[in-house]
Amino acid sequence: MKILKFGGTSVGTVDSLTNVKKIVDSLDQPAIVVVSALGGLTDRLIATARSASEGKEDYIDEMKIISSRHFDIIDALIPAIRKDDIKSAISSLLKELGDIFKGLSLIRSLPERTLDLVVSFGERMSSIIVAGMLNDARHHDSLSFMRTERWFNKDIADRQLTDSLIKKEFPLPLTQHCVMGGFISRDRDTNEITNLGRGGSDYSAALVAAALDADELEIWTDVDGFLTTDPRIVKNVKLIPSMTFVESMELCSFGAKVIYPPTIYPVFHKNIPIRILNTFNPSAPGTFICDGYDGKPRVCGVSSLGNIAVITISGALASNVAEINTRAYNVMSRNGIGVLLVGQPDNGTDFSIAVPASDLDKAVRLFETEFSQELREEEVVSIKGEKDMTIIAVVGEGIKKISGLGPRLVNTLWRNGIEVKSVSDGASETTIAVVVKKDDSGKALSLIHESSIERS
Ligand code: ASP
Ligand code: MG
Repeated sequence: MKILKFGGTSVGTVDSLTNVKKIVDSLDQPAIVVVSALGGLTDRLIATARSASEGKEDYIDEMKIISSRHFDIIDALIPAIRKDDIKSAISSLLKELGDIFKGLSLIRSLPERTLDLVVSFGERMSSIIVAGMLNDARHHDSLSFMRTERWFNKDIADRQLTDSLIKKEFPLPLTQHCVMGGFISRDRDTNEITNLGRGGSDYSAALVAAALDADELEIWTDVDGFLTTDPRIVKNVKLIPSMTFVESMELCSFGAKVIYPPTIYPVFHKNIPIRILNTFNPSAPGTFICDGYDGKPRVCGVSSLGNIAVITISGALASNVAEINTRAYNVMSRNGIGVLLVGQPDNGTDFSIAVPASDLDKAVRLFETEFSQELREEEVVSIKGEKDMTIIAVVGEGIKKISGLGPRLVNTLWRNGIEVKSVSDGASETTIAVVVKKDDSGKALSLIHESSIERS
């Protein structure tokens, strides 16, 4: 049994939905179809909620646009016998959404949970429409089985509870196609509507695939698959026909926008392969992600992640690699800050760590507390943060075994006048990462792609 996830552009227009219909109706077995909101809708819902909460009335026009977009699709694609039912389901959701916007414009504030409620309408509507459009499909309401819990200031999936609810919701073998909205969920304690984060439909699909031991997870999108790097920045990119779970995980955590990074863990764990496919070019082979690796070190792709800050801790303590690493990691993870990279230049007196720029101030304060004694005793002389950095990650199984690759890349950058702020060190055997200034990032990406991929 397969899980097929269709992203926003795939369900965005009558034409793209016609492709979706062809793809699903031609399957030879019932499958679970997970859909995003119509392309661009989540952004517009957020913008409209913000503007309504400032007392503006443009939500009235926006509601007309949202309504006609959904109704045009229903008119074009839903068979006559189901049209009235689908129209009335969508109408009542739209009525509720309009009322919420009106409420926001009156109370002039936008609580986080209300925004979660507003964005949920995107997937609630798209999933009803897609289920109605297919030949033989049933709609399943994700809000009744996807559960989150609070973790610091975030909502994260409650894996155990969600797993068991998914198993109950979809008894196997399936007898017809099942369609559900991605992204949306409810808090397990308060029952309020929540979501799995922007781009989270991929993750919903992965949770379903893992809970049901699916044979394959297909992510249908608007590109042919993973490319060796970002084609908007670099010219000679190639499609990557296959890669391992770890390679895809590293590329996505360092900025490749193909899949939402948390998606990979649940299926990796169960060894369920992922296939990235293009709704607009369905016969293209795509990228196949599985466990297979032939043992030969290789470079698979290069990705880049902006909006990074680097914190450098200087002083004698930095030479105690094990201690500073452990303490720095622990204090960040206890406080919900994801460490993106740890670097240790050869000078032995600096230790650097990269975190999302939005966490910079908090991270510096935490380090100042963690190392307060060392600061007094001058074992640590300074803790400095710098914003506007980009991480460039070169990813491939066994990459650290390719002799001289790391130094060669750093040299290439230096020779071209690009300052390397930090070089990754340690944990991952699959990634060599460097940090450069944001303004240098495009040039650095091209140079690194050229010297690691185009020449290999
Ligand atoms: N509609 C949501 C978003 O735009 C979730 C998704 O598409 O994966 O972020
Ligand atoms: Mg997406």
